Amino acid sequence: DVLSNKIAAGEVVERPASVVKELVENAVDAGSTVIEIEVEEAGLAKIRIIDNGNGIEEDDVLLAFQRHATSKIKDETDLFRIRTLGFRGEALPSIASVSKLEMKTSTGEGPGSLVVIEGGKVVTFEKTTSRRGTDITVTDLFYNTPARLKYMKTIHTELGNITDVVNRLALAHPDVAFRLIHNERKLLQTSGNGDVRQVLAAIYGMSIAKQLVPIFAESLDFKISGYASMPEVTRASRNYISTMINGRFIKNYPLVKAIQDGYHTLLPIGRYPIVLLNIEMDPLLVDVNVHPAKMEVRISKEADLNQLVSETIKNVFKSKIL
Ligand code: ADP
Ligand code: MG
Repeated sequence: DVLSNKIAAGEVVERPASVVKELVENAVDAGSTVIEIEVEEAGLAKIRIIDNGNGIEEDDVLLAFQRHATSKIKDETDLFRIRTLGFRGEALPSIASVSKLEMKTSTGEGPGSLVVIEGGKVVTFEKTTSRRGTDITVTDLFYNTPARLKYMKTIHTELGNITDVVNRLALAHPDVAFRLIHNERKLLQTSGNGDVRQVLAAIYGMSIAKQLVPIFAESLDFKISGYASMPEVTRASRNYISTMINGRFIKNYPLVKAIQDGYHTLLPIGRYPIVLLNIEMDPLLVDVNVHPAKMEVRISKEADLNQLVSETIKNVFKSKIL
């Protein structure tokens, strides 16, 4: 019902960036090759996601807005075993309960559907003409949850969170062309040609991308790969260290620490490298121990992994370490 969706929304949609994350992940799950994200006022006024994915069948459209109707798993620890990014069947109902939402979707066969939902109540559901894919617009986010709205930070901060989310999704999916536009200004465009370095260049600029060194190592349990910035290229924030397990972004402080340790004494105090690290490993060795939407994980054999990571980075910059 509307109330429990609103309560769930408190967990799933904390801020505009969480809406962007959930909607873009849905677009990725739908097999899209082109995803356009348009936001206004850092997403508080408007978030629009247009994809060219497989769309939703007419019969399934309203179901997609019912909580857990589409849940794919029973157990949160299954998270790393499933192929799709979404799994809880919670995002759409939650977002729809705290905004005004309009969705046009089509599978490319027969007419598409148009659904309009305000504060969780369906106000329009009809056939429409639409090309294959989904076009979803969320306006007036949190209009009916004033407490949540008050909790929003500045436009600058909220937009920063949105670009972080989109950058990470673009890095994790170099084979998808992403476009992010804020107040009619283009903030990111990737080609979707599968080349991660080109995505890094689109995000950080060509000159920085050129100073990123490929890293790679393998052990019995782990295969790590990615890019690490030369020690001269640093940032004042840890946010530029991105870690993925099996292509899914995760948060794990010891891993970030292991990356920093790899640079040994090369990083000035308070400065952090730009790193993109993907770990391939048995999903059964990953435990999602906190909130699944926040992606904090615990890793078995963590000490082995951390050692592999710092040694690998240390080896790359060995010649520079005195
Ligand atoms: P989840 O992603 O956890 O399954 P969501 O609430 O995010 O739950 O989405 C519900 C369902 O709606 C999805 O499982 C999917 O079938 C469908 N869906 C949502 N967004 C899209 C999209 N952009 N393209 C195709 N199907 C979608
Ligand atoms: Mg989803």
